[in-house]
Formats: sequence, C-alpha cells, structure tokens
Amino acid sequence: MNIAIIVASGGGSRAKTNIPKQYIKILNKPILQWSIEAFKKSGNFDEIIIAYNKEHEEFATPILNELNVKSVYGGETRAISVKNALDFAQEFNPKYVFIHDAARPGLDNEIIESIFEALENGNDGAMPSLVLSDAIWQIDENNCAQKSISRDILRRAQTPQAFDYNKLMTAYQHFDNFENALDDAQIAIAANLKIKLVAGKERLDKITFNKDFEKMEGHLANNIYVPKTGIGLDAHQFCEGEFVTLCGVEIPYEKGLKGHSDADAAWHALTDALLGAIGLGDIGQAFPPSDMKYKGAASSIFLEFAKNKVIESGAKITNVDVVIICEAPKIGPHREAMRKKTAEVLGINIKNVGIKATTMEKMGFTGRKEGIAAQAIATIIAPFE
Ligand code: MG
Repeated sequence: MNIAIIVASGGGSRAKTNIPKQYIKILNKPILQWSIEAFKKSGNFDEIIIAYNKEHEEFATPILNELNVKSVYGGETRAISVKNALDFAQEFNPKYVFIHDAARPGLDNEIIESIFEALENGNDGAMPSLVLSDAIWQIDENNCAQKSISRDILRRAQTPQAFDYNKLMTAYQHFDNFENALDDAQIAIAANLKIKLVAGKERLDKITFNKDFEKMEGHLANNIYVPKTGIGLDAHQFCEGEFVTLCGVEIPYEKGLKGHSDADAAWHALTDALLGAIGLGDIGQAFPPSDMKYKGAASSIFLEFAKNKVIESGAKITNVDVVIICEAPKIGPHREAMRKKTAEVLGINIKNVGIKATTMEKMGFTGRKEGIAAQAIATIIAPFE
C-alpha cells in the first residue's frame, strides 16, 4: 500500500491571479488535476490525499469529487499541511509515501518509477533534483556580489519527495520548527534519514510566477492526447412483461426483456463500448451474472462503473452513439428521454449522445420479434501511450 499526498494549500500570492494558481487551467485542465492524474496513471498508489485550503472549497470540491480522491484541510504552513495528511494516511498503513507540490503539474511516470527504484534500493527517501547551470553568488545587504559558490555541490530540489512512511512519521514527530521547514527532505534529514537524489526534469519545475504558465503549457503539450474508440454489442430475449428498459427508460410494451439485471441491452452495449475504448474486458467480467447482488439491478450501475474507469485512466468521454435493433416497440417517442438519461449518467453534454433505432426488415431474431439487440460505439480522448 503506497500513498501520494499532494500539497495544494498554498495561497499562490506570488503569481497574481484571481483564483489560486493550483486551480488555474493549463490545456483545459486545472493544475492540481495534472498531478492527481499522473499518480493515478502510475497504478502504484492505493490512495491519493489532497491537502487543500479550506477557503478554496469552491475550486477544490469539483476536482476532488470528479477524480474520487481523499482530502484533508491544509494548515498554516506547508509542513503542517503535510502532517495533517500523514496523520490521515495512518489508517491505510502505507509502506511508501510520495509528497508532491500541486504547483508542479509536469509529474510523469518516469520520475515516479525512478523514485520507487531508489526506495527499493534501501534508501529512506528519494527526491528528484536538477544540477545548476548558472554561476551562483552569495550577495551582501546592498545586492552586491560577495562570494561565488561552487555549483558542483548544489542541487535544485523538486517534488515528489518520497519516503518510507513510518520513518518519515517519526521524523515529523521529532521536528519542532514547522514554521521554517522548506520541504519534507529537510525534516527527514534532521532525523538522519538518507535521501537519495534522482534526476529531475525541467517540466517538474514549480509554477511560481505568471511567466511560468506559458512555459509549463509547452511541457504539458508533450502529453499527446489521441482519440480512442470502443464498440459494444448486446441482445436480450423477450419474456413475459409489460415494459422494456432501454437506456434507463421504461418503454411500455406487451413483453419484457429477460436478463439477470434489468436487461437494458442498449446500456449494456454502451458499457462494453466504454470499457473497450480503454482496453478493458466486458461487462460480464466486472459484474459476473453468477453474482446474485446484481439480480434485477438498474443498468446505470454498469454504465457508471465504465465511466469511472474511463476517468480513472486519465481519459474523457467525447461522444457515444447507440443503435437499437428491433421491430417493436417504437423507440422514436422515447429517444430524447433516453439521450437525457445517458448524458446524465456519463456526465457529458446531451449533444454528444446519439441514439437511434432500426429494424432488420423482419429478418433474423429481431425481425421475428424474439428480442432486442443494441450496438454502441464510444469515443474518448486519452493520453497516448
Ligand atoms: Mg446484456
């Protein structure tokens, strides 16, 4: 069990903006979200905890809810915010904890992997850092150069800084200068922990000033997004009943549809299309028909599950299209209600939901009115890997 903590409690006073900088969008995504998605994508973290400022509730809540991450309130200083999150993490009994600044949206898997490697090699902690390329001068009180300092022994520290959780907790418990702590490495080193430096990246630099936004956009644009599609097909047999359920809408009919759940063939096909777009298996793998829990279940739970899987993978649903194949009942009068329900469950604009119906000209099983079939296609925008 590993934990990632993202410190998002800063006020962002140096970058002059109306909203706190961690919530400003770069390439249409809040800065904080970039880091959350990087940790999620790595697949090595069981919980992600955001330490955020109580006064930023309106900006934080939508992100926390959409990405389904845990949160704590931050404190007066960075170290207090981290301590709050570390205390909260205790119940998960983590092995390693990664602590990352929200203002560094350029986190990628290569960095995460190299930090894990340093930890597995027996170091108490690890952090990314960069060598300095400029000459470094100490100055006097009149801003005059006083003494040159060899840059060979200096490094610029970045985050995530990662540690053996128990050792860092002990270090925090013994540290008493929380007002002045620069970062977690300082607290760890005060407790004699051994922190290994791994190669950092320019894209991991902190966004501090206004000019940094444009530069970061250039770095993040390297994460190329591509459209991906998935396809789904399903059919259910008619049985005795008074209505059929399609796209969550109950349509009165002289028969019902037979199935383990509510037999909503349209949403089953759509669920499979979404799972297919991210390379996962089908609905039956996630919800085995042998599991009595899903008997008579509303199929919105399957669709919701697939939607969450897409979001967790760092992708977004752009549009879906469903074709229902049957001789009867008539779909047309219910189409708008079906589009609305589907858009609601997927959290997308109704304009991005296509639903239509066709007959098979009395041929085949749908033509003989033995049941209803549905096909669906889903398009998502996903990070290229
Ligand atoms: Mg089905």
